[in-house]
Amino acid sequence: MGYNQENFRKIREEYSRKYLEVQEAASKRREEIHAILPEVKEIDSQLSDMGLRIMQAALQSEDYQAALAEIEEQSHALEQRRAEVLTRNGFSADYTAPRYECAACGDTGYIDYKMCDCMRKKLILAGYESSGIGTLMQSQSFENFSLDYYKADRMTYLLMQSNLERAKEYAGSFHPAKSENLAMFGGTGLGKTHLSTAIAREVIEGGWDVVYVSCVDMFADYEAQRFGNSTGTPTGADLSRYTECDLLIIDDLGTELTNQFTTSCLYGLLNTRLNRHLPVILSTNLETDEFRKRYWDRITSRVLGNFTIMPFKGTDIRRQKLSK
Ligand SMILES: [Zn+2]
Repeated sequence: MGYNQENFRKIREEYSRKYLEVQEAASKRREEIHAILPEVKEIDSQLSDMGLRIMQAALQSEDYQAALAEIEEQSHALEQRRAEVLTRNGFSADYTAPRYECAACGDTGYIDYKMCDCMRKKLILAGYESSGIGTLMQSQSFENFSLDYYKADRMTYLLMQSNLERAKEYAGSFHPAKSENLAMFGGTGLGKTHLSTAIAREVIEGGWDVVYVSCVDMFADYEAQRFGNSTGTPTGADLSRYTECDLLIIDDLGTELTNQFTTSCLYGLLNTRLNRHLPVILSTNLETDEFRKRYWDRITSRVLGNFTIMPFKGTDIRRQKLSK
């Protein structure tokens, strides 16, 4: 699937609009110049005949190459004269040329049918936005994931080092059809959110559609769709994002008020995504036993069977930071 389709559509529209605006502005400047410099108008009219002359030469002339060379020479001379007239009158030589935001693709977003970097960057920025990571994303990366907080215990350090490596590897080689499901288990403040955000960021940069959501917000969307909002009005919350994105990251599972409704939503969602080979990363503060108790064996066997467990250990980083 790749880039979020809604973002893609919006950005394509933005490019078409921008392209037209640039063309319109250029043609306004041309009219302005034609009104004050008739010589340029005359040159432009001759230049616009060149295409026709090339066609005539192709059909009629005995030596097409020679005719073509002559036309090209004349065009070049006309363009030079045009530039001279413009600069002599205080305008830049390219005054009437379209002024593109991106000179490489001429604001079309593509160079020889390949996406231009300017468009790719816009899609990535839009991807951050639509993923729901928000401002968290800006501060949390693999680079600033510090293993120093885990140094107190050798085994913990090694475990966290391998978690970091695994997360990097996961993000760097992400592909929905091949990537596994991860379940990050461990107490609060052990870096689960940091690592899953860092994964999200890199997967978005790779051009994939990612949704990052806290389980509380996600279940709120399901409830709103099923039961309506506080006044009982159905909100039409868009749940397709959860079933269709390339990577779904559900943060803090277990912090919601677990009931039959949330459990069946979660089961349905995971089931759909597993069947479609669309990976999920779960993070939870619950112990595996507690996890099992909460989500019934039905989900648990399905979840635990298809998820690679990443255990997080150590001492709450936030507490360590405060005590410094
Ligand atoms: Zn471009």
